[in-house]
Amino acid sequence: MNQIYNFSAGPAMLPTQVLKQMQDELLEYDNAHASVMEISHRGADFMAMAQKSEQDLRNLMGIPNHYKILFLQGGASAQFSMVPINLLHGKTKANYAHTGHWSKKAIAEGKRYCEVNICTDSADNKYTNIDAFENWNIDPDGAYLHYTPNETIAGLEFDYVPEVDMPLVADMSSSILSCEIDVSKYGVIYASAQKNIGIAGLTIVIVREDLMGNVVANQPVLFDYTTQANNDSLYNTPSTYPWYVASRVFEWLKQQGGLSAIAKINQIKAKTLYDAIDGSDFYSNLVAIKYRSCMNVPFLLADEDLNGLFLDKAAANNLITLKGHRSVGGMRASIYNAMPQEGINELVNFMQVFEKENT
Ligand SMILES: *Cc1c(COP(=O)(O)O)cnc(C)c1O
Repeated sequence: MNQIYNFSAGPAMLPTQVLKQMQDELLEYDNAHASVMEISHRGADFMAMAQKSEQDLRNLMGIPNHYKILFLQGGASAQFSMVPINLLHGKTKANYAHTGHWSKKAIAEGKRYCEVNICTDSADNKYTNIDAFENWNIDPDGAYLHYTPNETIAGLEFDYVPEVDMPLVADMSSSILSCEIDVSKYGVIYASAQKNIGIAGLTIVIVREDLMGNVVANQPVLFDYTTQANNDSLYNTPSTYPWYVASRVFEWLKQQGGLSAIAKINQIKAKTLYDAIDGSDFYSNLVAIKYRSCMNVPFLLADEDLNGLFLDKAAANNLITLKGHRSVGGMRASIYNAMPQEGINELVNFMQVFEKENT
């Protein structure tokens, strides 16, 4: 098989090494005499994998001991509901930063539970910029502040962490594990797995212990963080195979040198691509430079009529899934941890050749 570089925004490419390991271990997991998909989640083999994966993630991200790590189902979208259910704590309002498609969805769900105060809004600039934090209008009576550090569709990424006197909640679905963060600044961090953690079907929630145990009444028991934490995420059958894949990705990340090492690689990857875009009149990216995403790089062709040809020729050159989201148009290269520098170099070479052929 040719080396293919897959720029999908999610589900996204996995490290080749992890895919091969999945293949090697598919028929028999460790000494379990069965596939990891076929064994009990309460058996010793699975439990050992689950515990090690949790410890690996704790070490990778430097997660303090007073935070629980939950391995759940339902995607980031289920967290749009679980956050208000678990964090309102009897209050009637919450603050939400509106900086893109995913924050908008979180806001819509939040409104089912409370009064949402939109404390900053990037809709007017079409999600290409973020207002300076001192201009935000934060309601001090809000139970928490929810924001999306990296907006996957517009490619808009915060270069700062909002500092507030209330729990800070972050949807890190498309940025978790891409660089080091200070977990202690957050009340809750959540991320679906299919971008930088592994495959779809798993959602990781990192929650400060003191925030648990005070949920909105009459909600599904599975939506209570305490239920999940008290049962080590095994209250009911977890997403066993996606959890296993995540464990292999965490091991791979450790071999890469952890998050400080992968962050350096990610920065060079992103710089290579943005430099190519900025160095040509043929391509453009509209996001304010300091808020450009390190993981999702949307770009437009000056002549939109060439979009189809660009995608066809890119695919013929083993560069796939570059079509931009319909709300932005053009192209989008998602360059998560699993995308190697060579993939970026191939893309940039292709872009330069395509430009020459079409000007
Ligand atoms: C992909 C994504 C989601 C949606 O995740 P699901 O697992 O489909 O619910 C939410 N937020 C962000 C930032 C994303 O990138």
